[in-house]
Amino acid sequence: MLDVVREAVDFAIINGLLKYNTRFQLTHAPFSLSPAPVSRKLLRQLCNFTPVFNTVWLKIANNPAFLRNELEKTARTDDFVKNLLNLLPENELHPQRQLLISRNDFMLTADGNETSLKKPKQVEFNTISNSFLSLSRQVSLLHRHLYRKGLLASEPIPNDPLEAAVDSMATAIRSYDTPNPCLLMVVQEKEQNIFDQRALEYRLYEKYNYPTCRMTLKEIAETGSLHEGHLKLKGHIAAVTYFRAGYTPDDYPSSIEWKARALIETSSSIKCPSVGMQLAGAKKIQQLLGHEDTLRLFAEEDSAEKVQETFMGLYTLDELIDNVSASEVACQSPERFVLKPQREGGGNNLYGEEMKTALQNLTEEEQHAYILMERIPSTITPAALVVESTREEMPSISEIGRFGVCIADGDRLIENKDIGYLVRTKSADENEGGVCAGYACLNSLCFED
Ligand code: ADP
Ligand code: MG
Repeated sequence: MLDVVREAVDFAIINGLLKYNTRFQLTHAPFSLSPAPVSRKLLRQLCNFTPVFNTVWLKIANNPAFLRNELEKTARTDDFVKNLLNLLPENELHPQRQLLISRNDFMLTADGNETSLKKPKQVEFNTISNSFLSLSRQVSLLHRHLYRKGLLASEPIPNDPLEAAVDSMATAIRSYDTPNPCLLMVVQEKEQNIFDQRALEYRLYEKYNYPTCRMTLKEIAETGSLHEGHLKLKGHIAAVTYFRAGYTPDDYPSSIEWKARALIETSSSIKCPSVGMQLAGAKKIQQLLGHEDTLRLFAEEDSAEKVQETFMGLYTLDELIDNVSASEVACQSPERFVLKPQREGGGNNLYGEEMKTALQNLTEEEQHAYILMERIPSTITPAALVVESTREEMPSISEIGRFGVCIADGDRLIENKDIGYLVRTKSADENEGGVCAGYACLNSLCFED
């Protein structure tokens, strides 16, 4: 009898569905053997959302006055946000071109038992360092292989966000119009998810002949220089600077890294994303968009309502819910909320007792660095998950992300589209969701009808 786990793990290894584990040993990326079912209607809805959400966040990213004003209180106790705000350009007459590779993450809530009645609720809109452009494709290829061999019941929905992202990168690099261009990929020194990044680098070189300089912020500080506004690195000009690092304070252990970031920001390199877009991705901004008046500043008349329907309750800690502060309500019913600081990358949110303790100890000033979000009552389905070659069956929750790309000069759009999906499936007991952080498994989508 064919052993599905062995077949799947070998396929994963041959096809680069790989990562380093926390001990930096090579292993297959964790994956599910139970594709997540969606209705055609829901899938269409999620795809259609992508350009709409991109436009909302683009308008915020292009409004430094709004970002400064709204993040000012947060910056008082959050140095990371403060340092990013300091890099924000003034209102520009001729805004620079920017590239966004976004990922809009959703969970599905049950509205009755039928999947067709499931509603998408936004977890967050990610604007920087969105991973799994390659690995999400490889897992759908793995599932296709198993399906064709009769080892998987459902056929995965094809998915190739990497190819489209590479095409958009190439469009942006070409538009910079310099003789010796490269993609500058800003990376962490030790990266568990390096193969996901390498796949993009190799495809960009293979298809378009554009080389990639992989560099840490420290290396950029040491080798980079400005020439008539261009960011020059070892004989190449960084036409596009793509941040796969720089989203967490851990990436800036000293002032040298901030110096590198300032060098990038003052250069004319096309940033992916711009510092304004990075700030627009803050949890605080998501919380503000939960207010209809704020959302309507940035969303078109006909789309605001649809966008708003995907939001859970989002609160500042001192906001009143039925005359009681949100912080107190969350202490009384911790199971209903998640406490989020302005951080990306997983493992930073607080739940349950830990959240309660934090809420009771935060000073009034520190409260502004956090938001409270209602927990999404996600649908739970059984799944078989494979981690380090071991299969386990468990009740699970799936999170669906839609990747998008957007190239824009100010608010003028050059490209804006959906390019594919990421599904992460985790045990229903698990609060957090990162794949490399060890919480979730890569998965694909299949049609339920
Ligand atoms: P990060 O920037 O660290 O990725 P997220 O806001 O995406 O932060 O939260 C991390 C994970 O926590 C998500 O992937 C999801 O699994 C879980 N999570 C976040 N917000 C909620 C919520 N409101 N309800 C249920 N789960 C949530
Ligand atoms: Mg997230």
